[in-house]
Amino acid sequence: MSSPLDPADDGLRPVDVLTVVAVTDVTPSVRRVLLSGSPEAVAAAGPTVNLLVPRVGDAEPRWPRIQRDGRIVWPQGSHGVALRSYTARRQDSAAGELEIDFVLHGDGPAAAWAGAARPGSLLAVAGAASLAERPASWVLLAGDETALPAISRLLAAADPGTTGVALLEVAGPEEEQPLAAPPGVEVRWLHRKGTPPGESTLLVDAVAALDRPGTDDVFAWVGAESAAVRAIRADLRGRWGLGRAQHHAIGYWRRGRAMAPPG
Ligand SMILES: Cc1cc2nc3c(=O)[nH]c(=O)nc-3n(C[C@H](O)[C@H](O)[C@H](O)COP(=O)(O)OP(=O)(O)OC[C@H]3O[C@@H](n4cnc5c(N)ncnc54)[C@H](O)[C@@H]3O)c2cc1C
Repeated sequence: MSSPLDPADDGLRPVDVLTVVAVTDVTPSVRRVLLSGSPEAVAAAGPTVNLLVPRVGDAEPRWPRIQRDGRIVWPQGSHGVALRSYTARRQDSAAGELEIDFVLHGDGPAAAWAGAARPGSLLAVAGAASLAERPASWVLLAGDETALPAISRLLAAADPGTTGVALLEVAGPEEEQPLAAPPGVEVRWLHRKGTPPGESTLLVDAVAALDRPGTDDVFAWVGAESAAVRAIRADLRGRWGLGRAQHHAIGYWRRGRAMAPPG
């Protein structure tokens, strides 16, 4: 054990490194990666999780370390690691299992890593956060493929008496996934039908076509491409008059730009 004056105690801890156990293609564009780690590492890895993704084709990653305040301290020089936000679709800390669904959008270090992931591949975790949800009697959940893991968790955790609508934008029927939702929440799939992701207005239009529910006990949760989220947020604040505590609308990715969370 080191004393506070011990120069070897720099206050930095190693990141939690997880190992891929299995890789499954859930739909043509979603790859589910099952990871194993210590119960503590899995418990701390979600629901929203900062992943440290080794760059495909690079040498062994040089992992950063974590400061006491949670900040990431990167090694000097090239380290071969990218930081990206994902969602733990399933966490079973007793079994040491963590499941993450990666959209294989064909570009970027995280999608490339998932495309190449095999049993034995490594991934690390550098912090987590909540989904920022709030229980309400009426909910609007709106998102694309990247938000499907979060929305599936929100629906599964919702009180069975919850009412509302879940709007899910995907490429087509082949990308739909079974979701366990309260019977009073309508699950509506919106198909892009060939429009590239990030270029469709399906989610924005579907929200614009919704009337404000007749109760103030409302919560709206939105995760999708940033421009769509901005438009939906403006609609919910303006037309519906939702206050800060009544909605959480976050850009999950940016068309044409890499999306690293703050380190
Ligand atoms: C809180 C949070 C939770 C998230 N959870 C998940 C999750 O569970 N599963 C998941 O797949 N994603 C999730 N995302 C989205 C994911 O972080 C982004 O898609 C991220 O850009 C992927 O990193 P990358 O290294 O593959 O690509 P980047 O290096 O970030 O981007 C490279 C290029 O790919 C494009 N791109 C990025 N995402 C997409 C996409 N979905 N479709 C088309 N083009 C894209 C970018 O516009 C850019 O041109 C989440 C994001 C946030 C903020």
